[in-house]
Amino acid sequence: MLFDFPQAPLQPLSLPWLATANVEAAILRLDLIDPLVSGNKWFKLRNHLQQASVSKAPGLISLGGNHSNHLHALAAAGKRFGFATAGLLRGHAQETPTVRDLQALGMKLHWLGYGGYRARNEPGFWGPWQARYPGWHCIPEGGGGPAGAQGCALIMEQARAQITALGWPGYDAWWLAAGTGTTLAGLVLAEAGAHAVHGALAVPRDHGVPDAVVALAGAHGYQLHDACRGGFGKFDDELLAFVAECELHSGVPLEALYTGKALLALRDKVEAGLFAPGARLIVVHTGGLQGRRGYL
Ligand SMILES: *Cc1c(COP(=O)(O)O)cnc(C)c1O
Repeated sequence: MLFDFPQAPLQPLSLPWLATANVEAAILRLDLIDPLVSGNKWFKLRNHLQQASVSKAPGLISLGGNHSNHLHALAAAGKRFGFATAGLLRGHAQETPTVRDLQALGMKLHWLGYGGYRARNEPGFWGPWQARYPGWHCIPEGGGGPAGAQGCALIMEQARAQITALGWPGYDAWWLAAGTGTTLAGLVLAEAGAHAVHGALAVPRDHGVPDAVVALAGAHGYQLHDACRGGFGKFDDELLAFVAECELHSGVPLEALYTGKALLALRDKVEAGLFAPGARLIVVHTGGLQGRRGYL
């Protein structure tokens, strides 16, 4: 299929606190699938790209902040697959490494201010943009919604194809960072109850994961864990030290906002005995490394 991507490697993840608890983990390196279209964002975009292709849309339009991994992946995918792209940005014009990349990738940028951006979920929001960009395919913030979630089912297939090569007889659970929860929803739907899926919420419950995703996880008996440490985009010294230490021990590059917070929440839960000795976990590296240029 035209918009399919290379296999993300599934690698043993070795960290002292996992060994102490006798919990085994492997990390699915979505950060390695492509230098530009990184992480879970390509999976979330896949069906949108297909829809845009079927409807012969000349371009793709979506929203995000000035470090947005989603807009970055969209701009790169647009360039790769021959779609024009437009990005609606939160706040006022600002140069960040991400914004420079978006421009270099040919994305047309519109700065909405803060109030304008807050209106993104109002019913009339897309009208003027559809008038300005006739026939373009509009993608919800973060690549969310059912089309985004369906593409994430492929994450499960990629991991399962590599379990035997790892020498594992099977696996017990997934662990991944959640923002909009779209990736999480995709895995929950794909697993259909076969294995537990744990979401580490990098965004506070009240303005992150939609109720529908929480309900979906709950319906399968899955737990969502708070990992946001005071808010999306907030850092603290313990988090940054933890990220540096994990990178050193595991050799896996991380960013603090999502993958770092998800691993720190995992450590706390492993130390609290959430997983029985001998448990095997698949940790998803959701990518996002381009974003860390903006804050580290
Ligand atoms: C966007 C992103 C997430 C969150 O994905 P959702 O599907 O919105 O939950 C997690 N990790 C990284 C690195 C991201 O860029």
